[in-house]
Order: sequence, then structure tokens, then C-alpha cells
Amino acid sequence: MIQQNSNENVNRKVKAVGLISGGLDSTVAAKIVKDLGVEVHGLFFAMPWGCCDKAQAQSAADRLEIPLVILQLDERYLKVVENPKYGYGRALNPCVDCRIHMFTRAGQYMESIGADFVFTGEVLGQRPMSQLRHSMKWIEDGSGLQGRLLRPLCAKLLDPTLPEIEGLIDREKLLRISGRSRKDQKNLAHQSGITDYPNSAGGCMLTHEHFAQKMRDIFKFGYRSFRETISLKWGRHFRINEHFKVILGRDETENGMLVQYAHQDDHIFELKTQDGPMLILKGYNPTQDILETAAGLVQRFSRYKEGEPVEVKYWPVKNPEDVRSVFGQSINEEHLQKIAIAQ
Ligand code: SF4
Repeated sequence: MIQQNSNENVNRKVKAVGLISGGLDSTVAAKIVKDLGVEVHGLFFAMPWGCCDKAQAQSAADRLEIPLVILQLDERYLKVVENPKYGYGRALNPCVDCRIHMFTRAGQYMESIGADFVFTGEVLGQRPMSQLRHSMKWIEDGSGLQGRLLRPLCAKLLDPTLPEIEGLIDREKLLRISGRSRKDQKNLAHQSGITDYPNSAGGCMLTHEHFAQKMRDIFKFGYRSFRETISLKWGRHFRINEHFKVILGRDETENGMLVQYAHQDDHIFELKTQDGPMLILKGYNPTQDILETAAGLVQRFSRYKEGEPVEVKYWPVKNPEDVRSVFGQSINEEHLQKIAIAQ
């Protein structure tokens, strides 16, 4: 339970936790709060599969001269994505629940460092799902931050928060920005000499249908570790059956990352000639038929696609010395489409 500050606390240094993504809105919001004389502590949430750039958040914090703590979103976050109370946006993005999860953790951090409130760069009406008046209220209530969640960019369009009521910050210095245009934030940034913020485009992988298909597949068939979900961001994904799936790298970088994030029970495949893609077979104790299907997929995505079966070598992740080989089954277009999750 968050307690209201007593009057004798008013003269001490006011402390706040600011969510910093490295983007324009959160940077401008932090600048406004800091300029009110508040001691700002930045907090960045790292998505398992990347999203906002950690380096950009760090450089924004450096520019603002505030400390930044990075918190990893983990298994608890995956549960939120799998079963959100407030549903999804255009793909698999549970924006309201996502924010409730992050802001709940921000509230815990606030309490742990003895801060007075949490603030964000949210703008009323900027995003269709999570930044409408009612959803902003759901987020405040759901995160347990009632009265302690300040949105400095649009505060004057919302009810006063406890730090404003208690006189810890001056409501008159807060803003009344709304809508999707970022013109006001850009002007404010310009006035403050902030010029190197990233564009707002791109962002969250959960808003991309291609990524969402891969995530839905592992929610349906299961995943063995949180780390395994990270490899959803690379490669072509195929589901052979309920126990086995494969991922093929599309270039050297993806091959390297897929190997790095493979599970100990997985197998790695590549052409004996090493001039094709790498494939990760995900699943425990594959049969001969599964091995031949995986080898066939390696050949299907190589320059030997139309030729006679070629030899494919494979080894278990946990024992790279145990290299064996297999000739792949022919995989035609119909078969390929039947097993495709996302290519
Ligand atoms: S876009 Fe992604 S990161 Fe942003 S609130 Fe929605 S689910 Fe969360």
C-alpha cells in the first residue's frame, strides 16, 4: 500500500522513477520532471526479444544526467502476453496488460528506493489501445500506483496526482499535450537542446503479425525456457509436429544467433559442404523420420533445392563432437506450406 506523504516530508528532496525508453516522449517527460527539481531515477525495461534500444535509453539517461536501471522482462511477462486480461491490439500486443506489468514493477522499484512517484512519457490519445482516458486509468489502478503515476506531458488533462496535491511538484509547470502529433514534444526537445532521439516507428515485435505467428505457435505447443522465446526473432520457422519444430537461419548473422540461443536438447544441421543455411531442430530425441525431414529442409533452402538428395551433417547442442549425417527427404512446396509457421 502506498502511503500519502506527510507535510514534514515536503522540504526533503523529491524523488521519482521515470520510465525511459530512449524515445522522444520519455526523454522530454524526464527533462520536465528533472527541471522541477526532482531527483529522477530512470528505469528501462528490456524485452526478451528486443524492442526499444537499451543503448538509446542509456544515452538519453546520460544526456539527462540521471542514473538508469535496466530490468529484464522475463517469464512473468510471457504469462502476461499469453493471457492478457485486457486483450490484444492489432497482433499479439497486450498493451494495457504490458503496461500494468511494467508499471507494477516500477512501483516496486519506487518503493525500494524511497521515491515519491513514477512518471512516464505517455500522451493522452496518442496510442489507440493503452493511451485512452479509460485505459490509462485501468493501467494506474492495475499497477497499484493510484495517485502516484504522473504523466507530465498530459497531466493537465488528467486528474491531479498525489505529488501535485501534496505540493511536491508544481502542476502549473506540467503540460496538456494530446493526440498523435509529436510537434509539441519536438519543439520542447529542440528548446532543451535534445536532438538525437530515435523516430517512433518500428518498435515492439508483438505488434508485428509475422512475429506474433511464431509466438502463438510456442504458446500452443509449449516452450522449455524463457531464453527459447528470444530465438523467435530470427529465421524461418516450421512446425513438423507437436513435439518438433525447426528454425532455419537466413544469413550468417541469424545462423550464429540461432546456434547461440539453441536449447541443450536441440540438434544443429548443416550441409556437409557448408554452403547452405544452418537449421536448429527443436525437440527431444528425434526419430529417423524427423531427422530426414530436418535435413530435407536444409537442402530445400540451399542451392541444391532441385537436385538429388545431399548429405547433411548434424550434432546435438550438448555434444558438438558427436557429428552424424543423414540424407534429407524431398520437401515439395505443398509440404512446405503445410508446416510453415512463419517464413
Ligand atoms: S507496443 Fe509492445 S511494448 Fe508497447 S505497450 Fe504494447 S505490448 Fe507493450
